[in-house]
Amino acid sequence: MIRKFLKRVFRKPAKTKTAGNAQVIPFELHGVAREQISYGAKKVTDGLQAAGYQAYVVGGAVRDLLLERTPKDFDVATDATPEEVRRVFRRSRIIGRRFQIVHAMFGEEVVEVSTFRSMIEAEDAQTDEHGRLLRDNQFGDQEQDAARRDFTANALFYDPSTQEIYDYHNGYADTRKHLLRMIGDPLVRYREDPVRMVRAVRLSAKLGFRLDTATAAGIGAMKGLLDNVPQSRLLDEVLKMLLSGHSVECIQQLRKMDLHHGLLPLLDVILEQPMGEKFVMLALRNTDERISQDKTVSPAFLFAALLWHEVLAAWNIRVQQGERPVGAMHAAMDEVLTRQKAQLAIPHRHDAVMKEIWLLQQRFEQRAGQRPFRLLEQPRFRAGFDFLLLRCASGEVDDELGLWWDEFQDASAERQAEMLQPEQAGDKKRRRRKPRKKPEAANEPAVASEPTA
Ligand code: ATP
Ligand code: MG
Repeated sequence: MIRKFLKRVFRKPAKTKTAGNAQVIPFELHGVAREQISYGAKKVTDGLQAAGYQAYVVGGAVRDLLLERTPKDFDVATDATPEEVRRVFRRSRIIGRRFQIVHAMFGEEVVEVSTFRSMIEAEDAQTDEHGRLLRDNQFGDQEQDAARRDFTANALFYDPSTQEIYDYHNGYADTRKHLLRMIGDPLVRYREDPVRMVRAVRLSAKLGFRLDTATAAGIGAMKGLLDNVPQSRLLDEVLKMLLSGHSVECIQQLRKMDLHHGLLPLLDVILEQPMGEKFVMLALRNTDERISQDKTVSPAFLFAALLWHEVLAAWNIRVQQGERPVGAMHAAMDEVLTRQKAQLAIPHRHDAVMKEIWLLQQRFEQRAGQRPFRLLEQPRFRAGFDFLLLRCASGEVDDELGLWWDEFQDASAERQAEMLQPEQAGDKKRRRRKPRKKPEAANEPAVASEPTA
């Protein structure tokens, strides 16, 4: 025991070995210990290795551990086929049609297990007319699996049982240098999958990595190819960016690389209006802060913020044309949502929440009678109020309104009564003419005060 300890302490400086074309980096150099791997990922690699297969933790998790960041999740790569993986873990299921992967479940944790893949040789590859790969996978070995990954820092394999890292593309040194470098020829790799350009921006912003010169230059040359990528895939990447906790850096980087035009049509419009830009950047900064404090963020809230100034513009036009404010708001929301659906596939499931948040904005202006109390009971009050605060901070509405609601929601009954504003004559008249049957009917304001645009 003591001998073992002394041997460890007085060992010669560790060196990198090679195995085939891989550099093998020992624990003594990289310092990532087996204990840092999640329970489930250890179970998966141990279980597969015991059954005679190779199994490694791969991708973002290894990179993040090297950077002393907490990985979002742990992925495992193996030479076992999906069926073979299934046989080793009872609580697992095969998912995906195009390329099957296995989800192995350990309590709350889900470990994604994928079989080593290779890129299909150029002559067999199925591509669209712009060279984008339509099928990019067939089973392969570890070296091939490394080569089909995007960046060198994302192509490291960690073996929890030996605590060694297998590195085929100098990813370890790049990670240490905080350098994001595409594996292979960036022009070829962007052509195969243009989404890699967006990933380059997102990962460099999130990790604070510098983009390698050729990796960055390729983006300038290839950005037009983003137009051919299915909207749903782009939206996935955009969402990852907006919810990365570094959305402000991501947007700044996108604009610097002139990538935002094709990518975020909704930002094109908004960022061109000074008020809209301020509001959107505040919303993003607020989201980043919430993520850094481990608070929840909802995509619907973010989408609602991104589109707000478009809704306001559409609303203003309608009101100027003589439409009633509330009706105009409903019509403006539908108009903007329909337009954006066509450009950026915001899923329908967010519509209801976005609309609720927008509609609440008109109701915040009403501070007389029972209305403020009814508003407090709305399930979406909190989101609506956070949204209102952003509007105040961006200068769209007077701070006084935000401060009033901030105080009102926590005030004593006495103080609340004091704070209420006097009912306006018009309100009373309307109510007398149309007696309410159900109390809920009054939830919709009879006359909305106008959001100041
Ligand atoms: P994050 O920590 O933000 O999840 P990540 O690098 O883990 O970053 P994922 O989208 O989870 O990103 O992808 C997991 C791994 O799959 C990556 O590390 C990379 O090796 C590989 N990968 C993902 N997308 C691509 C792509 N478009 N082309 C090539 N390899 C990819
Ligand atoms: Mg990941």
